[in-house]
Amino acid sequence: MTELTQLSISEAKRLLENKECSALELTQAHLAAIDQASDLNAFSVQTPDLARKMAAASDKRRSEGQVGLLEGIPIGVKDLFCTKGVKSTSCSHILDGFVPPYESTVSANLFAQGAVMIGKTNMDEFAMGSANTNSYEGPVKNPYKRTSDGAQVVPGGSSGGSAAAVSAYLCMGALGSDTGGSVRQPASFCGNVGVKPTYGRCSRWGMIAFASSLDQAGVFARSVDDSALILEAICGHDAKDSTSSTKEIPPFSKHVTADVKGKRIGVPKEYHQEGMPEQIEKLWQQGIEWLKAAGAEIVDISLPHTKYALPVYYIIAPAEASSNLARYDGVRYGLRVAPQGCSLDDMYELTRSQGFGDEVKRRIMIGTYVLSAGYYDAYYKKAQRIRTLIARDFEEAFGKVDAIVTPTTPTPAFAFGEKQDPLTMYLNDVFTVPASLAGLPGMSVPVGYSDDGLPLGLQIISNRFDEVGMFNVAKTLEEAAQFESKIKGVAA
Ligand code: GLN
Repeated sequence: MTELTQLSISEAKRLLENKECSALELTQAHLAAIDQASDLNAFSVQTPDLARKMAAASDKRRSEGQVGLLEGIPIGVKDLFCTKGVKSTSCSHILDGFVPPYESTVSANLFAQGAVMIGKTNMDEFAMGSANTNSYEGPVKNPYKRTSDGAQVVPGGSSGGSAAAVSAYLCMGALGSDTGGSVRQPASFCGNVGVKPTYGRCSRWGMIAFASSLDQAGVFARSVDDSALILEAICGHDAKDSTSSTKEIPPFSKHVTADVKGKRIGVPKEYHQEGMPEQIEKLWQQGIEWLKAAGAEIVDISLPHTKYALPVYYIIAPAEASSNLARYDGVRYGLRVAPQGCSLDDMYELTRSQGFGDEVKRRIMIGTYVLSAGYYDAYYKKAQRIRTLIARDFEEAFGKVDAIVTPTTPTPAFAFGEKQDPLTMYLNDVFTVPASLAGLPGMSVPVGYSDDGLPLGLQIISNRFDEVGMFNVAKTLEEAAQFESKIKGVAA
């Protein structure tokens, strides 16, 4: 069944349509692959029985002539999406045993188009992290290893489970969430396509909140076409999310071309970082050449407030997190640590100190600090002002260009234990955070390998609601780069 797991979504759709395989067979092949790749720890909740049930229901629908956009396609769902009747903990101890009685809008949209949930994917606790080393369910491994020393490298985070699962052929696509880069960075580290749409394209209803003004659902896939298909399935207005957009959603998958003739592509000078590995600079240049050869015009641009993006993000995101995570107190759901005779305050304290991991506690403390009476103006308010300036930089840039191309990350995937200190870890997000702060769509497309055999991606940022423009640049790069996975056959 090896070959079934290695199909693209469009190939799988064709096979299903021609009755050359059933959704149940496709699902079984992926479940077998998951069993064989348990070492990656990509899934935090396995749902094989449910997957088989969903696949059988899909086969039945198909036999009755009902065929959704993703009919019968096995998709992984990040554990941050509430899934009805299936444990959803955002990989935190504090949500132990939480089984939502409702379905998130994004996963409901996915299933309404016929997709089969193959399992819940592992992630950094509450989506805080860049290496998937902050999960209560244990770390995820990148299916790639460094060639020079064979070191096991991280998959990136926080959607590391989704990224690893897609690259290891454990599912055909996966849902992720991107607050400051959690789809784009792991996609780059694992060698697949990761898309974060415009803020507001996807409903946040039923997504376990991290930082609400930044959180946005996103997708992983092994090709630009496949990613467009999944994104098309999950986007849509939702009255249950007041920030959900009412803008019309073009059928992304039908509009993906590699036509960038006459398009102006911006190259921001601030993204040339000191100490960035030469290979990354080289691939960036190569990407620019490919776009030029495809008829695009390259324009040097400046995004002058870029250097403030990371500090601003690490004030705003923790501030919102400290407020969002205040609801976990042992009262309503999840973990409750309340030894006999303890007071209410004791219960709060014990539950929160045992329920949250170190990184989450760090963010809650930073967030509470920057929101506190004496520091609000100096930190939070100032950060909000600079956020506006960052958004304005992009607005100006999009007066001159149609899309922006940058590296996705300043380094390839690193080995476990190599970036222990939180600040070094935060630097991973230096290229992804600005678009998040501005609410813009961004995606990563794999274009090559480091000298050490690790995948590298380029990031494309486009104007608000111009996902189609972004996909077209991505497809041009994909066609030129001819990136070939080196994982073929390992897991299946
Ligand atoms: N790595 C970033 C962080 O730790 C981004 C996380 C995310 O996008 N969810 O906050």
